[in-house]
Amino acid sequence: MPEEVVDPEVPPSGGSSEQAPRSADEVVEATETEAVPADPQGVPTDAADAAPPEEPSDASAAPQAHPRDDGTRVAVLGYHDFSETLPETEMRLRTSKFRKQMETIRLLGLTVVSMEDFSSWKRGEKDIPKKSVVLTFDDGWKSVYTDAVPVLREFGYPYTIYLYRNYVDGGGKAMTSEMIRELVRDGVAIGSHSTSHPYPATVRKQQAQGPEVYDAFLRKEMADSKAFLESRFGVTVATYAYPGGFSTPEMPLLGRELGYHHFFTVLPGKITRATPDDALPRYVILGTHDSIFENATTFRDSDEDAPPMPAGAIAGMIQTLPHAVSPEPGALVNDRRPEIRIDVSKVSDLDPATLVMHVSGFGEVPATFDRVSGTFAWKVNRQLRHPTCQVSVSWRNASGVAAAPLRWAFRIDRDAAYLAD
Ligand SMILES: [Zn+2]
Repeated sequence: MPEEVVDPEVPPSGGSSEQAPRSADEVVEATETEAVPADPQGVPTDAADAAPPEEPSDASAAPQAHPRDDGTRVAVLGYHDFSETLPETEMRLRTSKFRKQMETIRLLGLTVVSMEDFSSWKRGEKDIPKKSVVLTFDDGWKSVYTDAVPVLREFGYPYTIYLYRNYVDGGGKAMTSEMIRELVRDGVAIGSHSTSHPYPATVRKQQAQGPEVYDAFLRKEMADSKAFLESRFGVTVATYAYPGGFSTPEMPLLGRELGYHHFFTVLPGKITRATPDDALPRYVILGTHDSIFENATTFRDSDEDAPPMPAGAIAGMIQTLPHAVSPEPGALVNDRRPEIRIDVSKVSDLDPATLVMHVSGFGEVPATFDRVSGTFAWKVNRQLRHPTCQVSVSWRNASGVAAAPLRWAFRIDRDAAYLAD
């Protein structure tokens, strides 16, 4: 197989899609052992001999100290391939599931920001909403154009595609330059994903041949790809997604010299303003592991004492609760001070004194238990301000055993704010 055009994530262009994608284990392994670049001071000993002149330049190349944490958290999502009909794999997501995910982002009240806004915020030049999402698509699959983009257009979400040079016009399942130009006219941001999408083994082999060979190799991967994408599509390429999430300390050093400002890994996590730009976390959304999307879209409300709410509890996702609740999961209510109620009459051996209700924006609320009806309820006492309201109810049984908290969310019709109380 021609190693230059085949990578761990991408089947050979024009070939069978049966080629096994990276396994989740490999993703985890890459995350834990490879994707995290060494601490800036922690240049490996074998590279240190060659590196000394670069270490000070690393410090001076850093444009400025990171602005202080402003409390904003950003989840960067990374997608690959889509299909409505082919079986889901780690790298291939069902198109209708992607659509539900995009809808869930909206229902959760998260804001999808462009790479440009993300970058401005990261530099401390601009504020973005406290809970923001950045959408990225790796490799340049044709299904991004055919399946994902129509959904993105429908929701009006900005997004970024990470292309690797050898897969552009790669035939088969690759996007063509013509398709990419159309997306550029739409305003898509383009980032580099290298020239050949090298395996870690290939990178190490080059590295083992000494600093000159390795530098030439990295320039081919990082500089040539940038120049190619910029000249072919008439855009500025200022961000880089490490192929397979794998990086070495030399990559961001050279990358900054070349004009890249942000480098993305496949390490899951939220980004703050203080997160180093050399190793930005990213949630790779796998078709076979829905929990990754849920984790990515779960933001803690540090200032509101709200229970973390997995996206799966939101409308259109997982919605079978064992006990009747009101408002119902995913319901759109036009009352900004609804009564929130759960019927716990079917809970056996319930100790009612242990019932606790949390409501987003309110923290723990003084809900009351009605023995006759077996309901636990609270009337919201000031107007709900957010497009979604998240509720969690927990309790113990008479022997003190805690039940798993019941969580759900409903939506608030914005226009209801103008109705009389
Ligand atoms: Zn890739």
